[in-house]
Amino acid sequence: MDLEELTSKAKQIQEEMLEEILRVNANTEYLRRFLHGSTDKELFKKNVPVITYEDVKPYIERVANGEPSNRTFRHFKGVEDGKVLAFLNTRPLYKILSGIPVAPVITSFIMTDYFKNWSSKCYASPDQVILCTDNNQSIYCHLLCALVQREEIVSIFAPFASTVIQAIKFLENIRSGDLSEWITDRGCRDSVSVILRGPNLELADVIEHECSQKSWEGMITRLWPNIKFVQSIITGQISQYIPILEYYSNKLPLISVGYSSSETLLGVNVNPLCKPQDISYTFSPNMSYLEFQEEGNNDEIVDLVNVKIGCSYEVLVTNHFGIYRYRLGDILQVTGFYNTPPQFRFVRRKNMVISVFMEVTTEDDIMKALNRARVVLESSGLMLMGFTCYSDISTIPGHYDFYWELKAKNFEGIVKLGNKVMVKCCCVMEESFNALYRGFRNKNDSIGALEIRVVQEGTFDYLMEHFISEGGASASQYKTPICTNSPEVLAILEDRVVARFFSDKTPPL
Ligand code: AMP
Repeated sequence: MDLEELTSKAKQIQEEMLEEILRVNANTEYLRRFLHGSTDKELFKKNVPVITYEDVKPYIERVANGEPSNRTFRHFKGVEDGKVLAFLNTRPLYKILSGIPVAPVITSFIMTDYFKNWSSKCYASPDQVILCTDNNQSIYCHLLCALVQREEIVSIFAPFASTVIQAIKFLENIRSGDLSEWITDRGCRDSVSVILRGPNLELADVIEHECSQKSWEGMITRLWPNIKFVQSIITGQISQYIPILEYYSNKLPLISVGYSSSETLLGVNVNPLCKPQDISYTFSPNMSYLEFQEEGNNDEIVDLVNVKIGCSYEVLVTNHFGIYRYRLGDILQVTGFYNTPPQFRFVRRKNMVISVFMEVTTEDDIMKALNRARVVLESSGLMLMGFTCYSDISTIPGHYDFYWELKAKNFEGIVKLGNKVMVKCCCVMEESFNALYRGFRNKNDSIGALEIRVVQEGTFDYLMEHFISEGGASASQYKTPICTNSPEVLAILEDRVVARFFSDKTPPL
């Protein structure tokens, strides 16, 4: 806009500016005091006082002192002075051909001064552990630091819930309260030694006592008695970890605060205490330009404020860094509006589907089927720790293969695979698939019996390590693929199959 235009439209520009500010900030602690969430400009002039620096000084000091503006904390008492066990680490920066250093988004964020300013105030681990580029060493050290300060830990944070599950498995290795020999990262060794101050036999006894219990139910709350919640993404494919987390945490509140991607921040959960299945993300209008393509209707692209309640869309991102109308690959459903911006439920990744005939089974169909199978597994004391699936067309007819990693609920329990239970799991999954699947399955030459291939414990961790070391994936952002047809992944899985089960009947139509 040139000077002529700017000066001739001053009134309109000012009006729009105020609208924008109110829309974005109406729910801040400060404005809520006067406007109670309203974005009305008249009310703004009537209710919001004219102020000087002294009036806002307490707020500025809170920001300067590193108080997170996270809405979550208003919902819990006694967390302000506690520490967070945050499972964060980094990937080494690498330079692309042009010499520009690149890093995954979480690594870039951790490197900022903004992050460093508050991390040391609220996290149990020193920055060196967060900056560690070795996933295993960093998880180990995060746990040690949090165990030494066990009374002070008030919450756990991990970008994705899968990391918390991975960390629980690590607990099995921590018995001495000392730095194990295999922590070779200099930053970790030096900084954690300061916190540990030598072998701590009393702590070792407590951990030994807890970890030697037959059942690991509630292990998180047993080790950290003052913990109030676990903060992590638990929607979409990550929802598979909810039952495991609930088991280990004695059903602590699981809080999924945000929805974001490497390209942009998309939305926040303004109702953090809601049940996992009710989570919707309110979209921020000020991070990127967002458009929405209606599912099944390639011609219909609408702006953020024009989406319709109940409809499903794929989100397209135009950001400040030169990405224009980019398909994120996520399908979202509009559940409501929060003032003007819409709220979305995460439905599924668009390309995560399996199909062996003319049916299509989507990520959310798969998740629903697994939830049904999980109820059957429960009855035999088993937990589903990881899975992926594959459209197997090497057989005629083709059929669905599910690779499952199972764990006995009792710590030293051996996974006993009852044929009856496993076959039932195959059958209940088939029953939950859509009518097209069930129809074709009933025609014997169209879709064959669903198969579960049980893999050794640790297989999915191994797969993650493989993606990190070979594919450059970042541990903090890693997500096990819901389905795969990668020969490399399938070979890793096949090598570790210990048992195979098939459904023994066709599902009702
Ligand atoms: P990345 O760019 O590797 O961080 O991955 C971004 C992707 O992670 C998104 O496009 C989503 O598929 C997924 N994701 C991020 N946040 C959430 C969330 N809150 N719920 C479900 N999936 C999410």
